Amino acid sequence: MHLLRNSAYVNGNWISAASKQTFPVCNPVDNAVITRVPDMNTADTQAAIDAAAKAFESFSKTTAKERSDLLRNWYNLMVKHSEDLACILTKENGKSLAESRSEIKYGSAFVEWFSEEARRIDGQILQAPFPNRELFLFKQPVGVAALITPWNFPHAMITRKAAAALAAGCTCVVKPSEDTPLSALALADLAEQAGFPAGILNVLTTSVTNSPAVGLELCENPKVRVLSFTGSTAVGKILYKQCASTMKRLSLELGGNAPFIVFRTANVDVAVNSAMASKFRNTGQTCVSANRFFVEDDVFDEFVEKFVQRIDQEIKMGDGSKEGVTHGPLIKKSQLDMVNGLVKDAVQKGAKVHCGGGPLPGLGPLFYAPTLLTGVTRDMEVYNREIFGPIAVINKFCNEEDVLRQANDTPVGLAGYFFSQDISQIFRVARKLEVGMVGVNEGLISCAEAAFGGVKESGLGREGSRHGVEDYVDIKYVCIGNLKR
Ligand code: ADP
Repeated sequence: MHLLRNSAYVNGNWISAASKQTFPVCNPVDNAVITRVPDMNTADTQAAIDAAAKAFESFSKTTAKERSDLLRNWYNLMVKHSEDLACILTKENGKSLAESRSEIKYGSAFVEWFSEEARRIDGQILQAPFPNRELFLFKQPVGVAALITPWNFPHAMITRKAAAALAAGCTCVVKPSEDTPLSALALADLAEQAGFPAGILNVLTTSVTNSPAVGLELCENPKVRVLSFTGSTAVGKILYKQCASTMKRLSLELGGNAPFIVFRTANVDVAVNSAMASKFRNTGQTCVSANRFFVEDDVFDEFVEKFVQRIDQEIKMGDGSKEGVTHGPLIKKSQLDMVNGLVKDAVQKGAKVHCGGGPLPGLGPLFYAPTLLTGVTRDMEVYNREIFGPIAVINKFCNEEDVLRQANDTPVGLAGYFFSQDISQIFRVARKLEVGMVGVNEGLISCAEAAFGGVKESGLGREGSRHGVEDYVDIKYVCIGNLKR
């Protein structure tokens, strides 16, 4: 693993924290320490912001073609080192190598995409309402972008923010999750090799203890003009408040509670196939994971039976770096305790366990068996919250109107999935689901070309697609008057 770095990257230098403090990064398979990284604090953060602000002076003047070329170099290096990146990802996150490889491919595609989009961030010439005026809209980079990212997609959550910001001409201060800083440092290494000048992409590693203070500085420092965050809704709301004092641009990708609806009109095999991927990818630790399954009464038993069969046959948990392992452990003990608590509560209140139902300590400290529950009622915690673990909860419904009401009965709205072969129903339900992204007869829908984001409390803004740069550009209206015609 040539790209395994254990220093932070600020202003083109690989450095320690000013305090010299470090914290361990552990492999969730066995909690073994992989390495230690600097525990950056508020003072280190200010230095990184200053470096990014200084670098912005020149980077904002580069041509779109120059930025496109740099992003293209970065992308090419990601492709060249994809195996190394995947190994680092599996080591610190625990997901299987196959899953890591597909994350590297998916995440790097955002860099390729924004290397192309960089050259299409065009302004506009407007029709003036007076004869002696010319009106323009310029698009200009907003300034320093702070990017705070989670542990579940340590590569892709950085690339899809940073590539959009860099394409627009912003400079970045990245604060990866304390659980997975090594993928971020590997990306910084490749950015350096790609030729990004000093200060343009900075990576601050911080412990769980220092993260709130570093986050506060990123929110309140007036030199930071946009904050992009992917993580929990609870932390997203804190950051939203903290950004008020400097009126920052905000991009928030927060939690979801995705409904997964199987109508009687569905092809059940297609639905089961998609359920496997949508529910169990990354061992269920995904904000777009199917969280609440609703299956119409006619096909309920068939769906449950086939789903349990596939789980039993196809999921092989273990050390993700080993051949044949499909799914890894949960990321940390708090996740395991949360998942375990949800299942225990449901079982105690009468839910039926069709498979799994508890931790797998024989495999390691953080493994939890893929679990399928039916008979879940509203008084059980597992019905109401984002599960973020390998627990499939299958509810029965009787009609379309009723299931839509249940699906939308939540304050969040990120992704939603449904399965139907009735074209009228497809359009009806796609329009009525209160979410930012809909999968119809598909359980995995995210790609660089599409706009990723939610409605309601799932966040603000869109990532990927041609809209992904909008968070990083200001529109400036320029009016030239008193022209002689
Ligand atoms: P999870 O609970 O899934 O770990 P979080 O929302 O806590 O998700 O974490 C996502 C990111 O937010 C991580 O980089 C984490 O360090 C960071 N974070 C957590 N708390 C704060 C905070 N108060 N301010 C800024 N960043 C934070």
